Amino acid sequence: MGGAAARLAEAGVESPRVDAELLLAHALGVPRARLLVLDEVDDAAATRFEALVAQRADRVPLQHLTGRAPFRYLELAVGPGVFVPRPETEQLVGWALERLAGIAEPVVVDLGSGSGAIALSLAHEHPGAQVTAVERDPGAIAWTRHNAGARAAAGDTPVDVLAGDMTDPGLLRELDGRADLVVSNPPYVPDGARVPREVADHDPPLALWGGPDGLDVVRGLLVTAARLLRPGGWLGIEHADQQGESLPAVVRSHGAFTDVDDHPDLAGRPRYTTARRSG
Ligand code: GLN
Repeated sequence: MGGAAARLAEAGVESPRVDAELLLAHALGVPRARLLVLDEVDDAAATRFEALVAQRADRVPLQHLTGRAPFRYLELAVGPGVFVPRPETEQLVGWALERLAGIAEPVVVDLGSGSGAIALSLAHEHPGAQVTAVERDPGAIAWTRHNAGARAAAGDTPVDVLAGDMTDPGLLRELDGRADLVVSNPPYVPDGARVPREVADHDPPLALWGGPDGLDVVRGLLVTAARLLRPGGWLGIEHADQQGESLPAVVRSHGAFTDVDDHPDLAGRPRYTTARRSG
């Protein structure tokens, strides 16, 4: 175990010890806490562990190796083709749930849903919510559908999964002026920005890159959100560390929104902008 952690550290993995433990638990098919009372690793598990550590040292994302990504109360299936949900997105969902409290059957749209982390968490934590998850990437939407099916089978209110582009003026016309909340973790990384190998080589490009200032997709998203939201409906958009001023400015200058605010994540970095549809 110490050797595996050292190997991962050497390879530049950010949390080598935790990753080594999670991979060993995965190789053994046990929860991580069970490692505390483990006295022996059989040869087959040791071989599996060795292979997993080698892949992680080659910077394959941990979540692709375990096939799972925890997000709030859920565990999503993830793998090649879909963006791995991040813990820093969890608070945006908490904010959204606060806006929806007191609305029995809110109409909610998640633009660029990927694994479905945001949409499925909202449906799980607000069972009355009528959630539509929009995804344009054919590789990613297979995962959206898979996770939506698994959550519905587990008893959550079903989420509608729709193949579509969040900037398409024809998207979800039937919800025009009816949405209580539009939420998104859009592609916002400025073209050419340096990202870790796990991200550059394994997250789908469509989920990451947002043009020269990272806000190209967001500009189209705002047009869609302004159309879908009812007067007083809420908008929440995740953004990059460096966009804590530029994204609120773009939302303000759009003209259809009031109460534009920015919020930090748990690490204190600017992380999401919220606003309200005027009218
Ligand atoms: N936060 C992601 C990253 O750091 C980017 C997510 C996005 O563009 N939506 O890789």
